[in-house]
Amino acid sequence: MSILRLGERLVRSGAITSEQLDLLAAEQKRSGQRLTQLVVELGFASPERVAETVAEMSGSPYMPLQQQSIEEGLAALVDEEVARKHQMVPVRRLENRLTVAVANPTNIIGVDQLRQSTGLDIEVVVSPEGHIADAQDQLYLLQDHRGQIEEQIDRAEQAMAEIGDTGVRELGAVIELVEGLIREGFRRRATDIHMEPEERLTRVRYRVDGVLLSGPSLPTALHTAVMARTKILAGLDIGESRLPQDGRIRLEIGRKKIDLRVSTIPTIRGENLVLRVLDKSNVVLGLDAIGMGEQDLENLRGLLSTQTGMILVTGPTGSGKTTTLYSALSSLDAVRNKVATLEDPVEYELPMIRQSQVNEKTGFGFSSGLRALLRQDPDIIFVGEMRDGETASIAVRAAMTGHLVMSTLHTTSALGTLPRLVQMGVPVELLTTSVRGLLAQRLVRVVCESCVREHRPDPAVVRRLGLEEAPPGLLSGQGCDACSGTGYRGRTGLYELVRMTPALAQAFGAGRSMGELAAIAAADGTRFLRQHGLELAAAGRTTLDEVLRATADAPSPDRSDDDATTDQTVTADGSDHA
Ligand SMILES: [Zn+2]
Repeated sequence: MSILRLGERLVRSGAITSEQLDLLAAEQKRSGQRLTQLVVELGFASPERVAETVAEMSGSPYMPLQQQSIEEGLAALVDEEVARKHQMVPVRRLENRLTVAVANPTNIIGVDQLRQSTGLDIEVVVSPEGHIADAQDQLYLLQDHRGQIEEQIDRAEQAMAEIGDTGVRELGAVIELVEGLIREGFRRRATDIHMEPEERLTRVRYRVDGVLLSGPSLPTALHTAVMARTKILAGLDIGESRLPQDGRIRLEIGRKKIDLRVSTIPTIRGENLVLRVLDKSNVVLGLDAIGMGEQDLENLRGLLSTQTGMILVTGPTGSGKTTTLYSALSSLDAVRNKVATLEDPVEYELPMIRQSQVNEKTGFGFSSGLRALLRQDPDIIFVGEMRDGETASIAVRAAMTGHLVMSTLHTTSALGTLPRLVQMGVPVELLTTSVRGLLAQRLVRVVCESCVREHRPDPAVVRRLGLEEAPPGLLSGQGCDACSGTGYRGRTGLYELVRMTPALAQAFGAGRSMGELAAIAAADGTRFLRQHGLELAAAGRTTLDEVLRATADAPSPDRSDDDATTDQTVTADGSDHA
């Protein structure tokens, strides 16, 4: 399969433009990188789309691996080194038939080797490189790790008892334990690892899909040693335990590079430690992978393609705004347009997009930064957050003078952003002419596929959701090993997209109530957060409990309350962990 053929195929299927192909060819000459890699790195096409095209050309089936659990016990069949070298991973075995996912189906050497070493029939499927690497981690690093933590704790405790406190941080057993605790977090897909000293023990907890889950507990005798070892890894002062500190750990587990942000704070029981896992693979998913409905997705793409006016994304901290915005930014044609951002902080580097990190302390804040940015001849601007009236006013003016401006606000509903911006001092007439779309979102946990079963919901939950009876077809997870007993695995978004139609602009300009505005948006086809949630629950993707939890603060249009006009929930924490 020649590079040119793949490139042309991608152009023909509309995945990339011919202009992008020219640029790819030029870059490839200079860097010598493979096209499959380069096209993804530059953000021209999603890895899934590229792998699908490769699969089509090779005649092998395409298989995305993210949702797929890799069958256990296959690690013994394929040597890790061989698997990594040839970018392949065994997926499942049915009697004499072994299904193997590969990134490049034209590389037959690896498959031949495997056929010989296992004596099995090999069925080849094509998967994105990233999926294969993740599946390899799952298979070789994590499945084997189960149950090791308790042993590691025992070993460290024994070693401590023998040696005493002195020189304990150099102890192999403690080093292994700290790595083991991080590895366990990684195995559970934790976004944060907490180590909290209490009177009799140190509790380790993992945040998974937004919820804290209990991990192992450490004997108090180990607390100082574990702390010291972690601080060394993070480059912190191990002698200082009375003041908060923060640092970073870069760690390799197997061949997987992990980046952690470490922070400590003294408590009355000793130092508390939190490790935040900075995992880039979940930040930029591509607009079609964030769980948006077809109609909403089409409308959002339409808004992005007009390339003028303002699009606002709203939701509380941790609602997935960053993922949506980064996915939207990477869907833009950054070859033909200058796309620039002002962020606090820059969470992930996007290809071809000029990102700046604001720093209020040095005077490079959102408003002064935005003014400077507008002198940089941009087409599309993303402003991390509308924190003040000045920033909002400049952004609105930019949106009215031929720029596409995207930003975020902390409000509970899409329509709630309008009165908020008025409160911030933006005149109503400017809003109705500049704003094109308002998007509110939340995250709900997805029912675990491995332990799913029929579900009868709690009548109280049904009532609180404003339903007369539970919809049919509800599912929930019973709890299993794959989901750490929670019944959920992964998260998806609930979305509420409101387009600024002439009717809506007129009604807002005339000072109509939120209920009336919501009715106009509904007539334009807006599906509100809770409605989207109920649809997902009826499809068995999530549960009513999750929908209630995620939308408890969202004003519902059919309750016709005017919550949104008095919406005052501003979170001081501007960060939004995707
Ligand atoms: Zn499960």
